[in-house]
Amino acid sequence: MAELEGLEFGKSDFVLLDEVNMEQFMENLKLRFEKARIYTFIGEVVVSVNPYKQMDIYGKEAIDAYRGRELYENPPHLYAVADAAYKAMKRRAKDTCIVISGESGAGKTEASKYIMQYIAAITNPSQRAEVESVKNVLLKSNCVLEAFGNAKTNRNDNSSRFGKYMDINFNFNGDPTGGHINNYLLEKVRLLRGGSEEMLGSLHLQNDPVNYVYTREGAASTTSNNDRSNHRAVLSALQVIGFSEEEIDSIYRILGTILILGNLQFETDSESVQVVGSEAVSDIAGLTTTEPDNVTKSLLYRTVATGGGEVIEKGHTEKEACFGRDAFAKALYERLFCWIVARINAVIEVKDYNPVLHGKNTVIGVLDIYGFEIFDNNSFEQFCINYCNEKLQQLFIELILRQEQDEYQREGITWQHIDYFNNQIIVDLVEQPHKGIISVLDEACLTVGKVTDTICLESMDAKLGQHPHYTSRKVDKTMEFHRDFRIRHYAGDVTYSVEGFLDKNKDPLFQDFKRLMYNSSNPVLKEMWPDGQLSITEVTKRPLTAATLFKNSIVALVDKLGCKEPYYVRCIKPNEMKSPVLFDDARCQHQVAYLGLLENVRVRRAGFAYRQPYARFLQRYKMTCEYTWPNHLMETDREAVEAIVTQHGFQDDVAYGHTKLFVRTPRSLFTLEQERAALI
Ligand code: ADP
Ligand code: MG
Repeated sequence: MAELEGLEFGKSDFVLLDEVNMEQFMENLKLRFEKARIYTFIGEVVVSVNPYKQMDIYGKEAIDAYRGRELYENPPHLYAVADAAYKAMKRRAKDTCIVISGESGAGKTEASKYIMQYIAAITNPSQRAEVESVKNVLLKSNCVLEAFGNAKTNRNDNSSRFGKYMDINFNFNGDPTGGHINNYLLEKVRLLRGGSEEMLGSLHLQNDPVNYVYTREGAASTTSNNDRSNHRAVLSALQVIGFSEEEIDSIYRILGTILILGNLQFETDSESVQVVGSEAVSDIAGLTTTEPDNVTKSLLYRTVATGGGEVIEKGHTEKEACFGRDAFAKALYERLFCWIVARINAVIEVKDYNPVLHGKNTVIGVLDIYGFEIFDNNSFEQFCINYCNEKLQQLFIELILRQEQDEYQREGITWQHIDYFNNQIIVDLVEQPHKGIISVLDEACLTVGKVTDTICLESMDAKLGQHPHYTSRKVDKTMEFHRDFRIRHYAGDVTYSVEGFLDKNKDPLFQDFKRLMYNSSNPVLKEMWPDGQLSITEVTKRPLTAATLFKNSIVALVDKLGCKEPYYVRCIKPNEMKSPVLFDDARCQHQVAYLGLLENVRVRRAGFAYRQPYARFLQRYKMTCEYTWPNHLMETDREAVEAIVTQHGFQDDVAYGHTKLFVRTPRSLFTLEQERAALI
């Protein structure tokens, strides 16, 4: 709770609001944004509003100001949270994590970069070469992941289309020794359509991304100078990380293949489907080191296992061939991305760490993940993202409450129950075995025969119609469309269109493409497609669906976060125009609701809103009491603090812990703050 700035900048901690309601919250948020105070605390949580302009608050001076300080000694800042996480890790050997959430364009990725930079700046003061090289690779990995994982969208010019979790490992000195990256649900569709022009455009295939169907849409607004220097930066980052020439060459070959696939056309003549022209096929075969005949075959036929266990080849219709081609291009991109992540992980993995020699290995995890999404049309992707946010909210509630409870226990203060909305019921609606939405979806995908999205919706209605957080047209006739269902999320109602759910949930890629890639003579490509060696009968048995894979990865993520001490950054996008001066009240209010920030303030205030070690409290307020100014003569700081509290008459509003003073309502502090301000 930093009250170092005057009140003309608003309240630096939302806990200090006179009353917790949306109106006051928004008023404070807006005032601070207008005064260029983009960060505000809720206790130890930092709320951030994207300034959409360069702020002069990240330099060396700022780093020095926050380094090793307590949270409330400085104005709210990302650095305060980064330092708190680092201190907990170093002083108490705790694993910690920093969860950064918010909608697209809210500033999550920028925040994660500043946090990484801060950690890099405050570690390894003796500049040991091996630590510097680990730090260098960790920082450079960002650049590579962005080049491949980001796209220009209408909401953010450089939008991450994947969720990222990065563990940074530290030795007992508190210096980074390595790390590990997990990526979640790369959104392939958008990447291919919108994105990564600087990579794709620089393949020396043809200079202009407009010539490629897959990059045309995003190409219009690129400037070639930037592209060239970005491209050089990516290339150099790849080299620093340790990608070999052969690997880098393979990356380009795959990107080239994807572009050629995008332009590849089919035609139907006298009943059979053909690839138009012969050049595309031979180019693809050349780039992927495969046989042209096999390329053609994979594009035009698929192997299927019949009911009787027989294996036959079936020719595609033109439509199927197009579908297969696009699925292949997307899969190539996704495998490439995952392979790059795995490759980086192999480099930054902690090697030869001996806990007996080197002390406990501790971790700071940084999670940069899409927040709640509510669009006009919500589909499978939003469903996954919003489910992920329910899981994170569940964790948030659990951890924040547990943290409070732990602190009260440590300080010898009686715990009191805090009332809050537990969203477990929504998590269950989505993920429960046998009756949750994912399970119904999977069942529909595995059913042999024609199951349509609408049939799937009916089966959801049958199983979930009674659920208090589920609605569809069948249940509520006022709902507009037959294909919609609605989930009452903790952050609000979201209506999803079930259209396309089944296709997106299935693995759409024909096994023939996987086999083609597995049989490539390029070892890098082969490594990306280990499942290409499976026979068609093995594959058909029980494919893992996209939703289940995603669920498993999120469950693993939550387990990982759950055993760490969490710190939170909540990002808000002030407007849709990328303007540094516009504060769109309605849009911001939505986000405050989706992020559950009011609930957060309430939980924080339900117990004790404010707490501070006795010595710090004295330092700040000793001038407000005759017995403590300039120095007190009492035996302990605690007694001196009691004197201040009693003199100001709020002894009923506090509890005395072993080392800290706990104040229930912030109002008591206002009096103190005002008096202090009048005296200095
Ligand atoms: P997200 O990852 O949440 O989608 P980004 O972190 O990519 O959003 O931010 C989107 C854009 O907003 C950035 O490219 C940058 O222009 C601007 N931005 C975000 N945070 C800051 C900041 N702290 N200072 C200046 N500009 C910022
Ligand atoms: Mg991002």
